[in-house]
Amino acid sequence: MKGYNNKIARVDLSEGKVRLEELREDIIRKFVGGKGFGYYFIYNDVPPGTRALSKYNELIFAPGAFSGLVPGSSKVAVVSVSPQTGLINDSYAGDRFGPWLKRAGLDALIVRGRSDKPIYLLVEKNRVRIEDASKLWGKGAYETFDALWKEYGEASIAAIGPAGEKLVRFANILFDKERAAGRGGLGAVMGSKNLKAVVVLKSQPSMELHDGEKLEEMKKRYYEEYKRAENLKELRNYGTTNGLITSAFSGMAPAYNFQKPYIEKELASKLAGEEIKKYEVEPEDYIHGSSCPVKCARYVKVKYKGEEFFVKPEYESIAMLGTATGVFDFPAVAHFIHLTNDLGMDSIAAGNVIAWLFELVHRGLLSADEIGMELGGFGDAEGEEKLLRMMAERKGIGAVLAEGVKRAAEILGRGEEFAVHVKCLESPAWDPRGRRTYALSYATADIGASHLRGWPHPHSLPNDGAARELVPSLIESRDKDALFDSLGICKFLPYSFEDLEEFYSVIVGESGATLKNLGWRIETLARIYNVLGGMNPPEDDVIPPRWWEKESEGPAKGNAAFINYDDFLEARKTFYRLRGWDEELGVPLPETLEILDIPEYRSSAERALEIVRRRV
Ligand code: SF4
Repeated sequence: MKGYNNKIARVDLSEGKVRLEELREDIIRKFVGGKGFGYYFIYNDVPPGTRALSKYNELIFAPGAFSGLVPGSSKVAVVSVSPQTGLINDSYAGDRFGPWLKRAGLDALIVRGRSDKPIYLLVEKNRVRIEDASKLWGKGAYETFDALWKEYGEASIAAIGPAGEKLVRFANILFDKERAAGRGGLGAVMGSKNLKAVVVLKSQPSMELHDGEKLEEMKKRYYEEYKRAENLKELRNYGTTNGLITSAFSGMAPAYNFQKPYIEKELASKLAGEEIKKYEVEPEDYIHGSSCPVKCARYVKVKYKGEEFFVKPEYESIAMLGTATGVFDFPAVAHFIHLTNDLGMDSIAAGNVIAWLFELVHRGLLSADEIGMELGGFGDAEGEEKLLRMMAERKGIGAVLAEGVKRAAEILGRGEEFAVHVKCLESPAWDPRGRRTYALSYATADIGASHLRGWPHPHSLPNDGAARELVPSLIESRDKDALFDSLGICKFLPYSFEDLEEFYSVIVGESGATLKNLGWRIETLARIYNVLGGMNPPEDDVIPPRWWEKESEGPAKGNAAFINYDDFLEARKTFYRLRGWDEELGVPLPETLEILDIPEYRSSAERALEIVRRRV
């Protein structure tokens, strides 16, 4: 098919073999690329219930269908079974890796098995080689990048740090020192395979496009439009670094382990916009966003404890490593972001679990003897740094925290009521009480508490309309996110569905109708897979106790995540029904598979339904 390489690479690390395979047209048409391909291959290759860190799990790198072809379309999807949740999990990183993988002639790179020694993969045009990584094992992510760039020059690299090697459940995969596929512990999946890095060399594209001339004209037009768009001005100016002003003032910040979703301007400003701008620099070797019309990346140069470093802070990392842990000191937080990248951990989960521990300390529920050291609780920057290092090395209390917040609460036998997660995935930096019903997105998202699964269009404050009224807007937003994730488009770019349909027909030469139900198709398949693998709907589609507490101040004062429990149950039931799932059980109905044009999975849906019916 035009617009694709029609080819994937399968690497079996147990056998030390690489195989190039044709990618079937029916798979391309139904699953399109990126997220869609990742979910398709996990569903079909990895039996439900497979343990994430076993050699039978797969790790899939799949560039979006438009990766490198459309302005703001640089994402690569990384998909696997998550060691945190046991569910199918996707995470994304932007810039060169996805487009270069496509240029190298691959629509997906699938890794399975386990090498008996540390290795890395070298991807060249139409070829993947397995190389020895013994000298890189044990090194921080930054040192790994430097060593590989020294050897290969122009290359885009995905690598893990010590946390991935030590199988920290929320280890991430860092790309080109700057971007991370952070969520779900996919760095631990790499670690379990003894895979330290994937290096993609730059090569010339060879894909055939349906109408290259028209594509060039469209690219220029959209690039110029988005470069100047008034509604992207704030993003161009601050990137996401001003996010805390928005979240804090609307009662959505994660401050002090989500105990204070509203914080005053004076405090929020310490970790936002103008304060961060004071440290901003324009580095010479600018990577992120080089081909994007928005260029939201902000780089800062910070000196902390005598050490000077560059880092690219984003709202989620700032808020979870700073606001959530009560450290309102930007140089310290920038240092934590830099350190967390180098150690190779998801900054959201790392901040969340430390904030939880600080709350235990604050409430006097855990002694210094039990922790193995004195901790000051919220605001203890020294303590936070020690904990980050101990988690990555799985030392002392760090070994407990490395299991993630839910398991840590179980191991220590306390604090479960303020562990803020859904399905074992730690909450990101948006407390949903400030926008009542946002929590329905967290509760129903296939991977757990993710901020990237669409939001309902909220009632205006005081938010007292029924949550079920907002479900159609959540579904619309969720499907759009899945479409962007399959095409490799950044969610900040304001493309409409019609824009994307037109790009599809210009690139592929076929109608973009296949894009229409894509998000629904993927989510339905994920639900069947997860149920067959042991997920328990509807009980697992819930929110943590903290979000049932009412906000005590600010514009959302008096708000819990829903009006009451019945409001939540009604909304969840409506969500299931509109998805074509059994409205009591939360499992796809067999006839929905026909509507979604994937009748081949009908018997799996029947099996999933039977399992849940028997249990309930
Ligand atoms: S808007 Fe920002 S995050 Fe999105 S592609 Fe452009 S530079 Fe990257």
